[in-house]
Amino acid sequence: MKYPPNEKVSYLIVGQGLVGTWMSYYLSQQSISFKILNDPATPSASSVASGVINPVTGRRIVQTWMIDELLPFAIDAYTQIGKLIGEQVIQHAPVISIHPSEQMKDSFEFRLTHDNVYLAQNKMEDWLNYFKIPFGTGQINECYWLDLNTLLQKWNTKLISNNHLLNEKFEMDDLQILENGVQWKNIQADHIVFCDGNNSMQNKYFNCLPFAPNKGEALIVQIKGLPNNHIYKNNVSIVPWKDDLFWVGSNYEWTFENNLPSAAFKEKMIAALDSLLTIPYTIIDHIAGIRPANTQRRPFVGTHPNLPQLAICNGMGTKGCSLAPYFTKQLISHIEQGQAIHAEADVHRFSRLF
Ligand SMILES: Cc1cc2nc3c(=O)[nH]c(=O)nc-3n(C[C@H](O)[C@H](O)[C@H](O)COP(=O)(O)OP(=O)(O)OC[C@H]3O[C@@H](n4cnc5c(N)ncnc54)[C@H](O)[C@@H]3O)c2cc1C
Repeated sequence: MKYPPNEKVSYLIVGQGLVGTWMSYYLSQQSISFKILNDPATPSASSVASGVINPVTGRRIVQTWMIDELLPFAIDAYTQIGKLIGEQVIQHAPVISIHPSEQMKDSFEFRLTHDNVYLAQNKMEDWLNYFKIPFGTGQINECYWLDLNTLLQKWNTKLISNNHLLNEKFEMDDLQILENGVQWKNIQADHIVFCDGNNSMQNKYFNCLPFAPNKGEALIVQIKGLPNNHIYKNNVSIVPWKDDLFWVGSNYEWTFENNLPSAAFKEKMIAALDSLLTIPYTIIDHIAGIRPANTQRRPFVGTHPNLPQLAICNGMGTKGCSLAPYFTKQLISHIEQGQAIHAEADVHRFSRLF
């Protein structure tokens, strides 16, 4: 195959999920040249994610890693990128916790009075028109919902119109490592950054990292009349999606045979919705994806220990929405100005594996 004459850029980015989107945003903010390769046929976790930033997690409702720093950063970042594409992509959406058991109610009430920052009491009566509530309710403030579909699509259009994105599959066989950069087909770049989610598991330069992909599914459900400015959490999460459509999920499967929606998950969600909702619902769609997770539950950010022109920003797991803006910016500051990457995220913590 013959390629046109060389195009020279500072960065070649592989993938335009959440991470590639934020890499390209911060590079364009700093007027650094780049090109993204994104293959629309390769599944993307970002396109099926519910888009929630929740500052607390788990049965003990503890704060998530670095949330005091990540949350204000993310709010500002999504507000700014929204302005550039003329859309409000971030919305404050407190979680209404509909306690699924006496034990979870006790756990919530314990946390309300111990090291509590984000939890609040609310009026159960406000929600009785929509839900069966045997164990009461509570509220998690400072939660946000992101309209990821709009963000990814509109940013993709902007990248294409600025000649920054090629809808093309990156093939490793076409990559040449140069002394001070890389060459991919006709594109020469000082750096290549892999933002290709689970596909980095097959990347010969980074496949030593302890990836542990995790499958998740969701139903897209129409629930007429349910306010779409809140997120609802019981044994399942019900998250605004678009107009009167809601995302309902999810599961966390560490072992799975494929990335397809399963009948077992659908059955489980129907049972959960039937026991939770007092108003009718209609199933519109069933989606599934693989989270680029890892055994340490911390991102993989940084340059290859032996080939500094190769970099990765990956391993966002269940928290890509809050981690992606912060760590893409940190990676660029590291490459451009030599600033340190957070020690728990830096891939150099695995240096002995490379
Ligand atoms: C069901 C589900 C629900 C989730 N809910 C949430 C949530 O509420 N909040 C949250 O914070 N996180 C959530 N996540 C996790 C979140 O989706 C991920 O952390 C995040 O999307 C990872 O982004 P990424 O850019 O690393 O990967 P991806 O989104 O997978 O993007 C990778 C991109 O690279 C492209 N690509 C791959 N290989 C190639 C190649 N060879 N050539 C060209 N392009 C390529 C793909 O097409 C894709 O566009 C959820 C995930 C799932 C599956």
